[in-house]
Amino acid sequence: MPHSDGLDDARRYVVRTYGCQMNEHDSERIAGLLESDGLIAAESDDDADVIVLNTCCIRENADNKLYGNLGHLKTWKAQRPGRQIVVSGCLAQKDRDQVADRAGHVDVVMGTHNVHRAAELLAQARTSTRPITEILDAAVIDDHAMFPSALPVRRESSYNAWVTIQIGCDNNCAFCIVPAVRGAEISRPFEQVVDEVAELAAAGVSEVTLLGQNVNSYGRDLQLAARRAGDGTAALRPLFADLLRAVGAIDGIRRVRYTSPHPKDMRTETFAAMAETSAVCEHLHYPLQAGSDRVLAAMHRGYTADRYLERLAAARRTVADLAVTTDIIVGFPGETDDDFAATMDVAAAAEFDDAYTFIFSPRPGTEAADMTDRTVDPAVASERFARLRTVIERSALQRNQAREGRVEEVLVEGPSKRNPDVVSARTRQHRLVHFAPPPGGLRAGSYATIEVTRGAPHFLEGRFVELVAAPRHRTRIPVAAG
Ligand code: SF4
Repeated sequence: MPHSDGLDDARRYVVRTYGCQMNEHDSERIAGLLESDGLIAAESDDDADVIVLNTCCIRENADNKLYGNLGHLKTWKAQRPGRQIVVSGCLAQKDRDQVADRAGHVDVVMGTHNVHRAAELLAQARTSTRPITEILDAAVIDDHAMFPSALPVRRESSYNAWVTIQIGCDNNCAFCIVPAVRGAEISRPFEQVVDEVAELAAAGVSEVTLLGQNVNSYGRDLQLAARRAGDGTAALRPLFADLLRAVGAIDGIRRVRYTSPHPKDMRTETFAAMAETSAVCEHLHYPLQAGSDRVLAAMHRGYTADRYLERLAAARRTVADLAVTTDIIVGFPGETDDDFAATMDVAAAAEFDDAYTFIFSPRPGTEAADMTDRTVDPAVASERFARLRTVIERSALQRNQAREGRVEEVLVEGPSKRNPDVVSARTRQHRLVHFAPPPGGLRAGSYATIEVTRGAPHFLEGRFVELVAAPRHRTRIPVAAG
C-alpha cells in the first residue's frame, strides 16, 4: 500500500527505548542520525525497515525480555528483504558478543559509546553475513562528534528538551551498573552546552532539563584537564552552578531543570545559583537510597543520613518553595529492621513531595548482585516497602494540599491521558496538575496560571486563570548538528 506521505522509496525506522532519560535522549540521537542518513520515522513495526532496540539493564529480567523480543523480530525480519535489527544501549554494552551469539539474525550490536556510528554500522551490515558488533569501552573525548549531545537529534517534543551535560559516572554505588556500561564521567564542554540550549531556544524550546548521572560533579574533569595543561586560572571552574546561571540567562528559556545530583557532591553554590536564577525551577531530585548509615556505607554512597538531611535543610533555606523528590531502595542486602527504621525516620523528617521507591533486585554485573549471603526475605522487603509508601504518600498529600488556593504558573503538556476533556500540566515544582482548559483549548507548550483547587497524593487539580505565554515552536525542531 502506498504511504500517505508519498515517500514510498524511503527506508523507515522505529526506535524502541527501554530505561532512563539517558537512553531516551540517546534514542533521539539515533533517530536524528538515521534521519540525517535519509531514513524516515515509521508509523509501526509493519511499516519499518529498521528496528532499533535501545536497551537498559536496570530492570529485572531485562536480558530475558530482550532475547524474547528478538525472537519475535526474527519473524518480522523474514517477512521483507532488507529489514535490519539494531541492539544498542546498556545491555548491548554489557552483553557484547553474546547478543550476536544468542540472536544471529541481529544486524548491528552497538554500545553506549557508539551512538554516533548508527548510520555507518547499518550500512556496513547490509553487506555483511554476520551481525556487526561494535562496542567501545570509553567515549573518545578528543573527538566531540562522539559526544552524544553533539550529534543530530530528532526530538520527541517541541517545547522542552533534554540536554546532556555529562556522560558516565565516577562513583561505584554497589547496586548500579552505570559505571560498567557508561564508563568514566566526562563533562561536555561548557560552551557546547550553552550553544545547544541557545539553538533550542531559538527553535522555540522554553524548558530544558540538563542530564547527567551526577550533575553536581560537572566540570571536575574539565578542571583537572585545565590543571594538567598548566592553566592555573581555570582551576576551579566551570562548576555546575555556572552552567545553571548561563543556561538560565538564555533568552527564551523560561524553565531549567536538572537530573540527577548526588547528595555527596551537592554544593551550596548550586543552591545559590538555583535561588538567584529565575529560570531554574524550584525542584530538587535528591536520591536518598537508604536512611541507615550502615546501608549507605555498604552501597558506597559517600554520605550519612545526617549529612543528607543537613544539605537538604540548606537547600530549603536557600531556595524558597523547593519541592524535593527522591529515590529509595528497600531490602538492600543485609538491611535489618533497625536499618529500615532509620530509612523511615529520614523519609519522615525529609517530608518528600514524592519518591520513586524500589524493592532491591540484583543487577548482574554489580557488586550487590554478589551479596547473596545477605538477601532480605522478599516478604519482609514487601512489607517494608508498603510501610515506606505510607510515609511517602502522607507527606506528598500534605505538601500538595498545602498548595490549595495558590495561583501557580504551569507548562501545558497536552490532554490528560485519562480524561481528554482536561489538560495536564506541570508546575515549576514539577507537580502534575489537571484542569479544564478555556474555550478554544490550550496548546502543548503554553504557559498558563491556574488556581490549585485540590491536592491529591500524586497530582493537583486546578482552575484555569489566564494564558501567560503561547508556545513559540512551530511544529518540530529541525534535525541539526550541535
Ligand atoms: S552515582 Fe551511583 S547510582 Fe548514580 S550513576 Fe553513579 S554509580 Fe550509579
